[in-house]
Amino acid sequence: MLYLDAAATAPLREAARDTMLKVLNAGPANASSVHTPGQNAKTVLNHARQQLATALGARESEVVFTSGGTEANNLVLKGVSVANPRGRHIVTTAIEHSSIRKTCQFLGKLAGFEITEVEVDQYGRVDESEVIAAIGNDTTIVSVGLANGEVGTVQSIDRIGQAAKAVGAVMHTDAVQAAASLPVSFDSKAWPGQYVDAMSIASHKFGGPQGAGALLIRDDIAFEPLLHGGGQENSRRSGTENLAAIAGFSTAVATILPTAGTRAQTMVAQRDAFISRILEEIPGARLTGHPTERVPNHASFVFERISGESILVDLDVMGVAASSGSACSAGKKEPSGILLAMGFEPDVATTALRFTFPDPLNDTDYNHLVDQTLSVLNRHGPQ
Ligand SMILES: *Cc1c(COP(=O)(O)O)cnc(C)c1O
Repeated sequence: MLYLDAAATAPLREAARDTMLKVLNAGPANASSVHTPGQNAKTVLNHARQQLATALGARESEVVFTSGGTEANNLVLKGVSVANPRGRHIVTTAIEHSSIRKTCQFLGKLAGFEITEVEVDQYGRVDESEVIAAIGNDTTIVSVGLANGEVGTVQSIDRIGQAAKAVGAVMHTDAVQAAASLPVSFDSKAWPGQYVDAMSIASHKFGGPQGAGALLIRDDIAFEPLLHGGGQENSRRSGTENLAAIAGFSTAVATILPTAGTRAQTMVAQRDAFISRILEEIPGARLTGHPTERVPNHASFVFERISGESILVDLDVMGVAASSGSACSAGKKEPSGILLAMGFEPDVATTALRFTFPDPLNDTDYNHLVDQTLSVLNRHGPQ
């Protein structure tokens, strides 16, 4: 099976699996225990934190391990909003991941926060000036995702981050998609670290295990934890650490990030060749997301008079695992809210088809992908 759904979950990297097995085989231990096995667990945890921090240009104290991207997004939005006395206003965009959008809606409903969702253009890009105009003296947090998972568009957040910081609002970015295929750093002198106060990442988008992630957040930013208890993670996220997952996570990040730049170059060439073939040979095919400002491993389309659902099933039969791009469950043909926000008609938005490469493909796999996709699309297309 040719697995091309890395944006949903990347395949587990061998190095991550090896690390996890080593941790699991070492036997039971709680990193908070005093005995030797406990102290060994503590050593593993410390090493993972150091490895992740180094790979991402962060300080160890800036890493809060969580159960994944969803929890990191919930933690920063709820935690900062509750702890920050500035006001009750959040600025975000119309195409954020549901873990951002629904958390904002929750804060609106439960605590009366005012939420400004800035609209996007046909490519899924926000106008930085519009976001900046929405930031006020009562804005507690500005959250703009670095890359969209469904259509692959990468945002410019530089000016937004500067404007947020200038008024004392916390600038957060959901970097879960971007960090897995672009060289992303939390270093305050690097991109995008120089523009953000907080950043969410998720292990399984890097090729680490599912169920681990992190919020990177500057030391001086006050936030209230969501999980209160034993005081783990420097009292910012209580609960016994998922040691094997955290170790696998940091191994995956440290393995993949140093080569992100060169991998990206190869994948961009492959991605663009693939996109060209589909657009040239399938009448009515359109690329979704920005043509150039997009993550390197991401190709996504909509079609005229073709059902995205049945294409996925047929591709699967031909050994290609692709996706519609949105999290809606199979069998339910709701148009994607993100594509609607980008101005696509509902019947077009239901035809979404997404291919996200975990790695550059070899020639055999690439040719198989092109042949099978063209043949399935031609079979479904208007005669
Ligand atoms: C996958 C994803 C998330 C959620 O991460 P989980 O670890 O699955 O909870 C959040 N934001 C974006 C952009 C994602 O792609």
